[in-house]
Amino acid sequence: MQVKAPRGTADILPVNTRKWQHIERVIKEQIEFFGYQEVRTPIFEHTELFLHGVGQGTDIVSKEMYTFNDRSERSLTLRPEGTASCVRAIIEHSVYGGVLPVKWYYTGAMFRYDRPQAGRYRQFHQVGVEAFGSNSPYLDAEIIILMVEILSALGLQAYELHLNSVGCPLCRQSYRQRLIEHIDPVKDKLCPDCQIRYLQNPLRVLDCKVVSCHEAIAGYPVIYDSLCPDCQEHYARVRTALEDNGVKYLHDDQLVRGLDYYTNTAFEIHIPGIGAQSAVGGGGRYNGLVQELGGPNLPGIGFALGMERLLLALDTLGIIGSTQSAIDVFIAVMNDQYESPALKILNQIRRAGIRADKDYTGRSGKAQMKYADRVGAKLVILIGDEEMAQGFLTLRNMQNKEQLRVTDEQLIKTIKQIMATD
Ligand SMILES: [Zn+2]
Ligand SMILES: [Zn+2]
Repeated sequence: MQVKAPRGTADILPVNTRKWQHIERVIKEQIEFFGYQEVRTPIFEHTELFLHGVGQGTDIVSKEMYTFNDRSERSLTLRPEGTASCVRAIIEHSVYGGVLPVKWYYTGAMFRYDRPQAGRYRQFHQVGVEAFGSNSPYLDAEIIILMVEILSALGLQAYELHLNSVGCPLCRQSYRQRLIEHIDPVKDKLCPDCQIRYLQNPLRVLDCKVVSCHEAIAGYPVIYDSLCPDCQEHYARVRTALEDNGVKYLHDDQLVRGLDYYTNTAFEIHIPGIGAQSAVGGGGRYNGLVQELGGPNLPGIGFALGMERLLLALDTLGIIGSTQSAIDVFIAVMNDQYESPALKILNQIRRAGIRADKDYTGRSGKAQMKYADRVGAKLVILIGDEEMAQGFLTLRNMQNKEQLRVTDEQLIKTIKQIMATD
């Protein structure tokens, strides 16, 4: 019997984990420059958290969640996204009672039962940031700048940032009515989901993934034209702040997030040239969410970046290689009676903070040199009869092939010198 990984999941083998670690390092560094701190929440939650926090009637909740009963018949769900858990934790630990804004970030696996394709998995990984307790448009700008800084630091300067405002419940009231009036005459052309939801929440039709729904409602009124004065002012400040900071964006009045607790700023970032799944991240303000989940009236804003998409972009555009070596120093033992002293030297090197390894398969001297080259070692220490008899070590620089003799005492210092000039 041969068991394979479930459809839509992927093993990340060491050849790729190096790329992941690189991306994660760059992202965390940027996020911490901006003063966000890491939070770790459970991978599964009570199902009702996502029913309220992601929204009943969304594709995620109605079609994509991994929901199961545990042995006590509680309904649990593998998290399909990160924001709801952060909001739950903010409320559960009364974090809002401390210093505001609360600036958190998270990273980890998310789960959605969706049709797998390039850049889309059933277990996928996200990095997200959330800021709670401020409605300042400059915080919106900061969050977007952070997302753009992350992409730049990764080498993805050729991004396309789509920006819109979805207003507040006040400006949406009149807008919903106008949208319903536009959709009503063509309602028979909508998909079954939209036929049900357009009366209750017509914005969801704009979100629908079914192409014929978009064709049916062509020429629909956009929320942007219905913004109240406060929302117009908020959006204008976000745009000015982005322009002042040199962030290029496209005002996209078709970008909406169809749920009531999403407010004001909405954004999505694409990397052109990486195929159909070009959105690497997105986010927005969700001033109604904390209250929706039983907390105080606390504004919030955040974004999430998809790790697989970022990796796809870096790979497709040839920005990232897998050339990083696994070790710096390899010890080649020419005679197996020197295995024990070799192990001792190996551990001295490792204790000095240098990545090092030796052979454990009884390879010939020549094969050990080949292996050292393949794993990307910069230096090889040769331990043979001559070395042991005369009490020195031969250090071979794998780049310029130079060899020198060093004593035990000089070894660490010499390795560090050579590596520093590299
Ligand atoms: Zn408004
Ligand atoms: Zn539809």
